Amino acid sequence: MNGRKNIAIVGGGLVGCLMGLYLARRGNKISIFERRPDPRIHAVDAGRSINLALSNRGIKSLEEVGLGNIVRETAIPMNGRMVHDLAGNLTFLPYGKQGQFINSISRGDLNKTLVWAAEKEGIEFFFDHRCIRTDLASSSLSFQTDTITTDQQFDAIVGADGAFSNVRMAMQLTDRFNYEQHYIEHGYKEFHIPAGTSKVLERNALHIWPRESFMLIALPNPDGSFTGTLFFPFEGASSFKSLADPVNFESFFRKSFPDVGDLITDLQEQLKMNPVSSLITIRCFPWSMHNTLLLGDASHAIVPFYGQGMNAGFEDCRILNGLLNKHNDDWGLAIAEFQLFRKPDTDAISHLAMDNFIEMRDLVADKDFQLRKKIESKIHSLYPDQWVPLYSMVTFHEDIRYSEAYRVGQKQKKIMDEVMKIPDIATTWQLLDLQTVLRQIKED
Ligand code: FAD
Repeated sequence: MNGRKNIAIVGGGLVGCLMGLYLARRGNKISIFERRPDPRIHAVDAGRSINLALSNRGIKSLEEVGLGNIVRETAIPMNGRMVHDLAGNLTFLPYGKQGQFINSISRGDLNKTLVWAAEKEGIEFFFDHRCIRTDLASSSLSFQTDTITTDQQFDAIVGADGAFSNVRMAMQLTDRFNYEQHYIEHGYKEFHIPAGTSKVLERNALHIWPRESFMLIALPNPDGSFTGTLFFPFEGASSFKSLADPVNFESFFRKSFPDVGDLITDLQEQLKMNPVSSLITIRCFPWSMHNTLLLGDASHAIVPFYGQGMNAGFEDCRILNGLLNKHNDDWGLAIAEFQLFRKPDTDAISHLAMDNFIEMRDLVADKDFQLRKKIESKIHSLYPDQWVPLYSMVTFHEDIRYSEAYRVGQKQKKIMDEVMKIPDIATTWQLLDLQTVLRQIKED
């Protein structure tokens, strides 16, 4: 199927809008159907990750469609993790080399920018349109609005309707569609930390309060406030369930995070009012049937601990666009190659995101872990082409596939496990024979 197509995108979130832009610029007629109202008029739902960490993979896609300026103008650089221990001591762990950072960006502002840009490109938006049925064989969709239900037929459909995708549901009902989902035992609750806290919370950092079985993180907002997210078990001795009473929850919170607890004047109110949301991983395959394709969270939702869900979705769009170039807009050929090429990468980032939860909540506060990072960082600074730390490969090297980063990261971990067993490594690490370490990374 080549030539100008009439394409429906279900979901006007981050990925749907970006893919719409790419496809409209290829000369296609694009309609985006979104169940929510227009975000330019109504703010996004409270309690749903207000700001996001945007890194190189996502930025590269935004730059390709000419929206790199939103990053430069509105995002706040975060140079590393600021770890807060129970006593209020701070340890700063840089994310990469000097000049490497990730960006805190407002989900709402980014979404609005994408909607404006898409509209300018001639894309038609249908807000308050919930997709309730997809007929894969005829490429038709049914939508429900407040008043009516309509059916429409298209040349192709992109399901960018998020982790609980209705489009995917149609695929799930067919033969030989593989699907798995996993809820982790933690949920999350967001907090607003008001502006004026710059003495306690450094603006250009992602703050973490790792407490082993749970953690709090905070990302800066442009107005000087921070958005905090508590990742906490649903059930158990200290959990959303056991601390359902806001008074008990408040005293637990203040005890666990004393430095930040004092900054939130309406803590009890927020604990009571802000919703608890769950965290899910979804893997499925194939991503395409007939002329319908799943993209972004609809095909690969991941837990947020690597800050890569949106970045991966944006990378999907860029890679698909590249394959449409390669195959001269032959949708069938491009999609077939896209899903085979991309699936190992999204599986890899889904595993890495789970692993990073453990790193963030348990390890960042661990002295051995900090030493390990220091040694890796020294190797990288001396031999930048031969040893790139896993976090850097994922976050700063958009030219390295997630699956390759995962493979090399596993190898690095094995080598570093041995290095860390060397007696007195904490005092002798500066004398480490780095050539031997590097030789191992080259061996298969
Ligand atoms: P969504 O953003 O879910 O958008 C889907 C859209 O489809 C929505 O607008 C929805 O209203 C619409 N829709 C759904 N069903 C229908 C229907 N039936 N009909 C019509 N419309 C429909 N990623 C990062 O890269 N960095 C981060 O720091 C980061 N932090 C996160 C923190 C948290 C707490 C969470 C939960 C996620 C985080 N993510 C992060 C992941 C990121 O939010 C997602 O990967 C990203 O939003 C996926 O975009 P999407 O467009 O595929 O899906």
